[in-house]
Amino acid sequence: MSDNINTTDLKKQVEDLLASFRSSLSSVNNTDALQELRVKTVGKKGALTSLLKSLGATTPSERPAAGEMLNKLRDEIEEELTKKKAALIDAETQAAEATDQVDVTMPARARASGAFHPVAQTMHEIVAIMQGLGYSVALGPEKEEEHYNFDCLNIPSWHPARDMQDTFYFPDGTLLRTHTSPVQIRSMLKYGAPLRVVCPGKVYRRDNDTTHSPMFNQLEGLLLEQDVSFSVLKGSLRELMNGFFGRELKNRFRASYFPFTEPSMELDIECVECGGKNPDCRICKGTGWLEVCGMGMVHPFVVRAGGIDPDKYNGFAFGMGLDRMAMLKYGISDLRYLFNGNVSYFLSGRNA
Ligand SMILES: [Zn+2]
Repeated sequence: MSDNINTTDLKKQVEDLLASFRSSLSSVNNTDALQELRVKTVGKKGALTSLLKSLGATTPSERPAAGEMLNKLRDEIEEELTKKKAALIDAETQAAEATDQVDVTMPARARASGAFHPVAQTMHEIVAIMQGLGYSVALGPEKEEEHYNFDCLNIPSWHPARDMQDTFYFPDGTLLRTHTSPVQIRSMLKYGAPLRVVCPGKVYRRDNDTTHSPMFNQLEGLLLEQDVSFSVLKGSLRELMNGFFGRELKNRFRASYFPFTEPSMELDIECVECGGKNPDCRICKGTGWLEVCGMGMVHPFVVRAGGIDPDKYNGFAFGMGLDRMAMLKYGISDLRYLFNGNVSYFLSGRNA
């Protein structure tokens, strides 16, 4: 048949291909050119590949010999390509090393350094002050049970704080804690009395505007000992505020209401921005005072819910917003700056 290729023809073709391959190979002087030659020879449309396809046109008696010849050719070509590639890479590396020089006088590239988030920084500062007063840090789960978040804290089921408007509930009836107070209960049950703990952490409420975020950070403190008076609470908080803001601040305690403390108070400190001297102050709205902390003597109901005898131990609890404290200390005007991840705001300094 005229289509048939006999082994003599094939042998000639193999020799020609090898000769032309070797001649091309000898003139290749970089890895890109080598890759081009590889494609031209053993690629899908390469010379060797089309020769291999012609195997089908040989007679069955000639096919084994032809196959062996072509396999040998392919092995030789592959081996020579591999050797050449190693040699070229070697040469290119040496050339690069010879020309690349290090200028040791060049200034180093500046590196952005990491820093604590203002809220984390605030938390660390307050925790450090409270540790100085003998408090330990206690943490609790953010996904909480109604029992710890409300029942134990004297917040009965009819209380507005339980309204679906305020609380994120899960389908199984658990919720995202609306305050860090459940950690007080968990700490009482775990450690008993006497007890001094601070509980920092994230809390969640269905609120979202310029002054409220659905997630915010609180810090609570709890002290339970024997014969604790309200003046110990006042002294501790004065210590905390003066320590945190780094100077003596005027303060006042106002009567307030919380279900879990009795009596309850709120602490105002003098405006850290204007000291009460600016009637147009945007921070204190000209009043000269800033509300910073809610507190009170722990309600006996709550002490009992924590597994402690309220006739033997009493004490106080206080709670504050860490975000607000950070904003006051670092002069941050909008709560949302704390959560939107725009670092440049903080790098550019105090916002007016
Ligand atoms: Zn002010």
